[in-house]
Amino acid sequence: MRRVNPARFRVATRATSRQINRSIVLNLVRAHQPMSRADLARMMGVRRGAVSLIVTDLLRDGLLFEGATGEAVRGRKPTFLYVDSRRRAVIAADIRATETFLMLADVLGNPLSGVSTFPTDRDPAKVVAALATRIARLLADHPEVVACDGVGVVVPGMVERATMRILHAPTLGWRNVDLHEALTQATGLPVQIENSGRACALAQAWVMRDDRAGTAGDLVFISVSEGVGVGVIIQGEMLRGRHNIAGEFGHVSLSLDGPRCSCGANGCWEAYVSNRATLARYFGRQAEPSGPIRAEQQHFTMEDLIARARAKDAKAAAALEATARYLGLGLASVINALDPARVYIGGEITLAWDLIESTVRSALAERTLTAAAADTDIRPVAASEYPRLQGAAALIAAPAFAAPVVA
Ligand SMILES: [Zn+2]
Repeated sequence: MRRVNPARFRVATRATSRQINRSIVLNLVRAHQPMSRADLARMMGVRRGAVSLIVTDLLRDGLLFEGATGEAVRGRKPTFLYVDSRRRAVIAADIRATETFLMLADVLGNPLSGVSTFPTDRDPAKVVAALATRIARLLADHPEVVACDGVGVVVPGMVERATMRILHAPTLGWRNVDLHEALTQATGLPVQIENSGRACALAQAWVMRDDRAGTAGDLVFISVSEGVGVGVIIQGEMLRGRHNIAGEFGHVSLSLDGPRCSCGANGCWEAYVSNRATLARYFGRQAEPSGPIRAEQQHFTMEDLIARARAKDAKAAAALEATARYLGLGLASVINALDPARVYIGGEITLAWDLIESTVRSALAERTLTAAAADTDIRPVAASEYPRLQGAAALIAAPAFAAPVVA
């Protein structure tokens, strides 16, 4: 139950219940479409007349549309309702330390374009200019998109909620960087910026359509790439903390005198499990936590390493095995601290999940405090689903489905 905060609250008005009912209808149609008014009334436990009023509103505002007529055993055939994702789109951008990924999606987060990539410049102004040019080209290439609702950007760093300022992105070497203002001006579109792990957690909670287990309320997303991004949702709320750094498990240390991390400390979880760390292990040397990628690694990626491990390259298998063990040990800290219902893992390492799962599980079981905690539901999210781009799209798309916050 949510406690009313007597110092910070917003009062519910008559318009609030209307907004809440609208978002309930929108979310039910999104999850179960196509859907008739009668289905809606049944699921909501209200009269058909009440549902029809809300639906008429949503049709008029262009958020729903009526599609094909369904079959009925007897009586009038129902008209099916859909979320109107035609002609409206969002831009999703995933800024990473080495490359930036860009995609056009509909307002349900479904891809409308392929994914394009370009190298990430260390100069934030150049990143903004490159993004603006490519976004304009992407929209020009899709003239069927009448309205673009905005640009969602995920970044490998901590983001201040109110200002969307990037407080610290260790792998990029950015501190107090403001992309928001410049990107809004350069694109003329609304822009939302969020930490990649948090955006991924938001997107998973949003797309979960069948949530009878209640896992959407308590989940952790761990995104493993050049760094480690973590998003935490507890009791339905995104964990942010007083200084926007809550949940940064990537920078919790596994060993005080371990390898150097991009944040400047030693032995962080990230310094053991990032793609850089795994590749460096394969090449038999210490990982360089930030700065330019070595020539040998520009032409040799995690995908290559995993392919070699599958082809019985012992060194590649050993490098992956070590990463799997550290992944499990760090996961134990996450589970002991937060006890989530489900943990999602994203990133290239998931391509090797069948090779590493048993090692991850046994390392996890060594450190979790109860046997039940060791059995926590852990699900890899395929890299081909681009979870970070899904997260970026959700930053723009999901709020339209959210109920207003009161009290
Ligand atoms: Zn660190």
